[in-house]
Amino acid sequence: MTISLKLINTFGLNIKTKFLTVINTEYDLFKLCKYSKKNNYRLLILGNGSNVVFLENYHGIILLDRIYGISFREDKFFWYIHANSGEIWSKLVYKCLKLNIFGLENLAMIPGRVGASVVQNIGAYGKELKDFCNYVDIIYFNNGCKIRLTNNDCKFGYRSSIFKRYLLSKCYIVSLGLKVSKFWTPRLYFNNLNKLNYLITPKNIYDAICKIRKYKLPDYRFVGNVGSFFKNPIVNLNKLIELKNYFPNIIYYNLDKNKVIISAAWLIKYCGLQGYKFGTVSVYNKNSLILINNGYANSKDIIKLVNFILKKVKSYFSILLELEVCLINKYGIIRDLKILR
Ligand SMILES: Cc1cc2nc3c(=O)[nH]c(=O)nc-3n(C[C@H](O)[C@H](O)[C@H](O)COP(=O)(O)OP(=O)(O)OC[C@H]3O[C@@H](n4cnc5c(N)ncnc54)[C@H](O)[C@@H]3O)c2cc1C
Repeated sequence: MTISLKLINTFGLNIKTKFLTVINTEYDLFKLCKYSKKNNYRLLILGNGSNVVFLENYHGIILLDRIYGISFREDKFFWYIHANSGEIWSKLVYKCLKLNIFGLENLAMIPGRVGASVVQNIGAYGKELKDFCNYVDIIYFNNGCKIRLTNNDCKFGYRSSIFKRYLLSKCYIVSLGLKVSKFWTPRLYFNNLNKLNYLITPKNIYDAICKIRKYKLPDYRFVGNVGSFFKNPIVNLNKLIELKNYFPNIIYYNLDKNKVIISAAWLIKYCGLQGYKFGTVSVYNKNSLILINNGYANSKDIIKLVNFILKKVKSYFSILLELEVCLINKYGIIRDLKILR
């Protein structure tokens, strides 16, 4: 018997697997670690499947992360939130807002679960998970050991972490500790938030971001997508000066005093690819960072379109875009992206 993963990947790919199990507790996980070790099975964790693109049917066991539970405590200066990995990130943000815990509102409406938010160091509108992460609890697949990592241990970077770089498929993130300051400072400079012409409150920022996101991003329940397919490239100031000579309207944000982050959406749009259709997939017509499933997307078309975009951007700007999503083949996450050239 095979199981379709169509409803548990937001790109809506009709990929199949033979084994799927729901993980509700750490005990479920311990049992599964033992079983898979004994039988030599590969394991792949899925939250909401909103950052993965399957290129083939998967030949291992899919673990659906559904470990729920949230608790809160506070001291004079901070809120401390302990959230288990299967909690839905956007619900956690909303719950915090309702409890007058402010700070997470810029990360509203990101459609994944808590465990995966750590993997990708989710970010939006100038804030990232790393700004709030206090600790991460993980369980290693090979020996079932549970350990706690500090923010520093997680080696967070732009849409990256030690998990994305080294530990994917080696451990299961079971919970996340967040530390949120009671002294709220709004973060507004991204994407015209500083043009909000009403009172700056956490609720108003939350509402404004939800409104922008609803307009700019396709609803994956109707149009399959995984959010940004590519990362925004980071370049040094010399490269920026060179680019600005030829492309004075290029969009970028300052990262630190030596580096800027360039809008990959702008680069792709400049190449004339916004709305570009390739067989069963397209570049979204309102945001060229997003690829959409035209209905029956297949991996051949996805790879061809991705390669076409990479080639075009490279030839115009001498910049090689990196993927933000994880590509998955029958063995698991593809690390060596030879298929992309
Ligand atoms: C419309 C849309 C908008 C988006 N907007 C943003 C955005 O603004 N910012 C942003 O950063 N991202 C964004 N994303 C991408 C995505 O939602 C996030 O990366 C999210 O954190 C992925 O969560 P998930 O539960 O769907 O993860 P999945 O896609 O299920 O998994 C992602 C990776 O994490 C691993 N993983 C999952 N759970 C665990 C766990 N418990 N332990 C260890 N590994 C695990 C998986 O094996 C996989 O490699 C968007 C996606 C969509 C569809």
